Amino acid sequence: MSLFESPFFQDSFSQLESAGGIMNMDPNVLERLKYPKRAMQVSVPVRLDDGTVKVFEGYRVQHSLTLGPGKGGVRYHPHVSLSETAALAMLMTFKNSLVGLPLGGAKGGIKVDPNDLSRAELQAMTRRYTTEISMIIGPEKDIPAPDIGTDGQTMAWMMDTFSQLSGYAVPGVVTGKPIAVGGSLGRAESTGKGLAYCVNFAYDHLGKKIDSNTTVAIHGFGKVGIPAAQDLYKQGAKILAVSDYTGGVYAKNGLNIPSVVEWIKQNRVLKGYPEADFISNDELLALDVDVLAPAAIDGVVTKDNMHTIKARMIAEGANGPLTKEAVDYLSDKGVFIIPDILCNSGGVIVSYFEWVQGIASFFWDLDTVNSKLHGVMKQAFDRVIHTQTKYKCNMKQAAFIASLDRLQGAMRLRGMWPG
Ligand code: GLU
Repeated sequence: MSLFESPFFQDSFSQLESAGGIMNMDPNVLERLKYPKRAMQVSVPVRLDDGTVKVFEGYRVQHSLTLGPGKGGVRYHPHVSLSETAALAMLMTFKNSLVGLPLGGAKGGIKVDPNDLSRAELQAMTRRYTTEISMIIGPEKDIPAPDIGTDGQTMAWMMDTFSQLSGYAVPGVVTGKPIAVGGSLGRAESTGKGLAYCVNFAYDHLGKKIDSNTTVAIHGFGKVGIPAAQDLYKQGAKILAVSDYTGGVYAKNGLNIPSVVEWIKQNRVLKGYPEADFISNDELLALDVDVLAPAAIDGVVTKDNMHTIKARMIAEGANGPLTKEAVDYLSDKGVFIIPDILCNSGGVIVSYFEWVQGIASFFWDLDTVNSKLHGVMKQAFDRVIHTQTKYKCNMKQAAFIASLDRLQGAMRLRGMWPG
């Protein structure tokens, strides 16, 4: 598959062009940003438990290293491709620039359904993948982290493999590590917490308060959706529905979130949860709620179902859950959209904190992590609102413009080599 082939790449590309047009961006800078700096494809051979060898397709794409080392997750999912990874790497560049991190944008992945592999097979695949990309990652080069299908254990294996190759412990090569091997407090729940912060900023901005009349639906009850639901539930909001790939659960007076989380801990999937009605993912997306948080995967709200959306606010917890067409259509209808590069930036912000704490070998308490996260996200939210007012554009375009403005400044100062 070529770089430009996937609908997701084309969609991210058109978001970039649209924002670039509105802000009158230097066409030479825009031209540069359409292409990743570096894209690596690797073959990952794994001896399966039955003795046979299977080769998986792996990638690491560094979209831009202008602002600092590459930063972005590693995804294990059957949809992973060069083109999708390149689009996600580009979004990481814009996310990191928007929230003011001294980091470039990168992303990696393996085309695999991790549920099909045993723990031993997953470990072997992760270690071989790390070895194959080891020459382009490192604390000063590019720092992977968890994404869909990967977690703290995956990062511990990556850290160990890279350390074995180096001959000494290199915790700074990845973030999202378990605490015992140099992780940061608050990293695991940071993306969902950041989403909840953003919904609060948006409510404040609109002069409203989150209370027991606030209704919420969350598409994707996983690493992002669960902590977001927990925080909003604690604030008194009614979480009417949540879903995963097995479908959704709905309660018209609000779900008991601690009980749903307990069910997930025991059963892994939502299917069968007894204290609610079962609904489909499509039904969840179309619920009449105050806040809809698509927090699973890209391309969930498209031109095919955008007309069914009734939510007043959409918090993009996943990367690219709304296509450009859906963002434009729903923004025009007056839906308040909190764009992905802002809304889900909590994860990479606390990844940055983890990297900084690791370099200093000095670790912060949870309150410090969360209050710094809140501060960074509030500043970014205010910049997006300011940009939106200045350019009279939608929130997605405003987030891209605010991000591109910083990036363009740095690219111009560094210049092109050879000129
Ligand atoms: N995978 C997350 C994201 O898409 C986190 C990346 C990171 O922490 O580097 O933002």
